[in-house]
Amino acid sequence: MEITDIRAIPLAHSLPEGRGLGDARGFGTDRGTTLVRLETDDGTVGWGEAFAPGPIATATVEELFADDVLGMDPFAVESLADRSYTDPYHFGGDVFVQSAVSAIDVACWDIIGKSVGRPIHRLLGGTQCSELTPYASTMYFTEADRPIEDPIRVAVVEGFTAAKIKIGSGIADDIERVRTAREILGPDTDLMVDMNGNYRPHQALESARAIAEYDVTWIEEPVPPENRSGYRELRSKIDTPIAAGEAHYGRFEFKELIDDRTVDIVQPNLGRCGGLSEARLIAGMASTENVAVRPHIWNSAVGMAAAIQFAASISSYPNTRHVPEPMLIEFDRSENPLRSDLLETPFDPAGGTITVPQSPGLGIDIDEAALERYRAD
Ligand SMILES: [Mg+2]
Repeated sequence: MEITDIRAIPLAHSLPEGRGLGDARGFGTDRGTTLVRLETDDGTVGWGEAFAPGPIATATVEELFADDVLGMDPFAVESLADRSYTDPYHFGGDVFVQSAVSAIDVACWDIIGKSVGRPIHRLLGGTQCSELTPYASTMYFTEADRPIEDPIRVAVVEGFTAAKIKIGSGIADDIERVRTAREILGPDTDLMVDMNGNYRPHQALESARAIAEYDVTWIEEPVPPENRSGYRELRSKIDTPIAAGEAHYGRFEFKELIDDRTVDIVQPNLGRCGGLSEARLIAGMASTENVAVRPHIWNSAVGMAAAIQFAASISSYPNTRHVPEPMLIEFDRSENPLRSDLLETPFDPAGGTITVPQSPGLGIDIDEAALERYRAD
């Protein structure tokens, strides 16, 4: 089997004027990403996503990888990471290179799964996993002035049993947001907060202590992702677990987060971290330091499918059934048709569960009409 066709397909969608949303760092109206479609000589098609802007991801795929990928056996997928660090030499430690590798890697795994008739999570050595627990990623900062409690009420109505909210724009506002979310969610749900790296360590520490009484499951990116010493300082002073990883890529960066437990939870994005091959390596490294792995998902439905297959393969070690800790999977509740419209059968979080596709590969079918609708090339 060999790959005979590779295409990068940039996608984009813009929210209407005034409907921007975001985090403590600001609002955005544009959502963009890049899909990669591979086809083999026997007509098998695989999909992956580079979680990177279309023009850059497309150029990276076409200029740096297309020649080598054409003619490649998709079962040689794990050679892609090596290649990214050696040819072209010194380019591997680049976010756009690793985003391109991620897309090609996931598409290869999709093809492998289809050719052997197994879902990817079974290929990665996972046990039979049929359901995951989605958490609503919500309570964004919004351009329009809206009541902060509305999105959490919606999440509860939709059946979510866990949620992550945006904070990080000042201690008083953090308390107000977390208190509001906890009151609506009730005492028994997982509530996570995301500061999007908007604080210095002393500010993050003050906030973490102020919201501790609301039983926060993790604090995400309390300081900028480059600020490793900030993570270490906070970890030594607070009890709430710290999560990071969406801004990181490749085994070498994740090793820095995992070594000596710089953070408690790593969050690889399957469209950026290097793909399923690299994510599996990251999960293995994480297990050596007893660091948890919870994938970050702000992608299109293709990246989400990859993250779901990956999450379904992760061992819960060392937890046993006596220490329940659900494999929480991020479910972005912002308006994004690249997530909601791209599949023939969209992922459905209703009832507080995500069904893990059991059909071969990623287990998804692309809605070709939707793909054409959001193409940005
Ligand atoms: Mg985040």
